[in-house]
Amino acid sequence: MRVVVLGAGFAGLELTTTLSAEFGDGAEIVLIDESEAFVFGFSKLDVMFGRTNPGAVFHPYRNLDKPGVRFVQTTIHSIDPVAKRIDTDAGTFDADIIVIALGADLDPSATPGLVEAGHEFYTVAGAFALREVLANFDGGRVIVGVTAAPFKCPPAPSETALLMHTYLTERGIRAASTISLVMPLGVPIPPSPAASTALLAAFAERGISWHPGSIVDRLDRERNTAVLRDGTELPFDLFLGVPRHHAPRVVVDAGLTVDGWIPVNPLTLETAYPDVYAVGDVTSVGTPKAGVFAEGQASVVAQEIIARVKSGDAPATYDGHGTCYLEFGDDLVGRVDVTFLSGQAPVGDLEGPSLAIAADKVEFGSSRVARWFG
Ligand SMILES: Cc1cc2nc3c(=O)[nH]c(=O)nc-3n(C[C@H](O)[C@H](O)[C@H](O)COP(=O)(O)OP(=O)(O)OC[C@H]3O[C@@H](n4cnc5c(N)ncnc54)[C@H](O)[C@@H]3O)c2cc1C
Repeated sequence: MRVVVLGAGFAGLELTTTLSAEFGDGAEIVLIDESEAFVFGFSKLDVMFGRTNPGAVFHPYRNLDKPGVRFVQTTIHSIDPVAKRIDTDAGTFDADIIVIALGADLDPSATPGLVEAGHEFYTVAGAFALREVLANFDGGRVIVGVTAAPFKCPPAPSETALLMHTYLTERGIRAASTISLVMPLGVPIPPSPAASTALLAAFAERGISWHPGSIVDRLDRERNTAVLRDGTELPFDLFLGVPRHHAPRVVVDAGLTVDGWIPVNPLTLETAYPDVYAVGDVTSVGTPKAGVFAEGQASVVAQEIIARVKSGDAPATYDGHGTCYLEFGDDLVGRVDVTFLSGQAPVGDLEGPSLAIAADKVEFGSSRVARWFG
C-alpha cells in the first residue's frame, strides 16, 4: 500500500514516524514538503525575543532517515482526490492512500498597511526579521494584534504580549512603553476559564491593555495607527500582527475545501473522498489550529492505516485532546490540558505557571525532534 503524505509539519512527521515504526522497510511511504527544514511554531517566539539563535531551531529534512519513508523536497501543484494523483515539481505521485497535512498559509498582504507599516510574527521569515527590529527598538507604543480568525495557536498572541513585557523590562525600556493586545476572542483561552483568568490577571499586573472581541482591520501608515473593526483607532510605534490564514491554494483548487478548510469526519479524519484523509491546520475538524492537535489527528490516521494493512480491529477514534504550553514571561510556563469532544463544550485545566513546566516544554520539543528525526 503506497501512502503519500502531503506536508512534513507536526502532522506529517508524526504520521510517517508511526508508520515507519510499525512497517519498517516493508512500508512504501512518500513524504512531500517544499521546505528544507521543520521549525516549531514556538521557536519563532524564541528567536524573535533573542532567547535562542535562528540556526538552533531548524530541523533539516535531509536528516530524516526512517525505514520505508522517502522524503521528497518539492512543491505540490495539484491534488486529484479521485484518481489519487499528486503533481509536483519533482513529477507525479500515485497513491493508494493520501494524507493531506499541508497546514495553513499566511497572507500578510490581505491586511491593508500590515506589510508597509507593521510586522508579522507568524512566518519564519517574519519572526526572525523581528529579532533585529526588537533589538533596535527604543521603547514606545507596542500593539500585538490579530487581523483575522481562525488563527494558529490561539494562546500565541497572549504569550507574545507577556514575553514582550519581560523583554522590554530586561532592556530597561518598559516604563517608556505601552503594550496593547487585540484579539477576536472574548477571553484569552475560551475552553479553559482557569487559563483565561490567570492570563487576564497577568495582563492587569503587567499593565498590558487587553482589547477582546476585536480585529485589526487595517494599519494607517500615514498616521501609524491600527484601525479596529469597530472603528477604534490605536496609535503605535511597533505593530506585531497575526496575519490572515487560509488553506494552501493547491487544496482549494482541488475542490477539497468548504468555507475555506477541508471538512473531515471528526472521529476518523476521512475527507469526502475514499482513501483521502486530512489532518491538522488544513482541516475544519473543530479543534484549534495547533501542533498538538495536528499530532493527535495524525496518530489516529496512522493507527487506521495500520489496522487496514493488517486487517486488524478498527482503532480508537479521535478524542480531540491536546496539551498546550503557555508562556507567561519571566521564564515561567503554564500547561493547559484541553479536550474538544465532538458535539460537546470543550474543557481545559491550567497547571502552573512554573519553572518545572518550562523544563517540560523543552522536553516536549526535544522528544519530538528525537522521535521524528532520530
Ligand atoms: C508563533 C507560533 C507559536 C506556536 N506555538 C505552538 C505551541 O506552543 N504548541 C502547538 O501545539 N502549536 C503551536 N503553534 C501552531 C503550530 O505551529 C501549527 O498549528 C502546526 O505546525 C500545524 O501542524 P500541521 O502539520 O497541520 O501543519 P504545518 O506544521 O504548518 O505543516 C504544513 C507543511 O506543509 C508544507 N506545504 C504547504 N503547502 C505546500 C505545497 N504546496 N507543496 C509542498 N509543501 C507544502 C509546508 O511547507 C509545511 O511544512 C504555533 C504557531 C505559531 C505561528
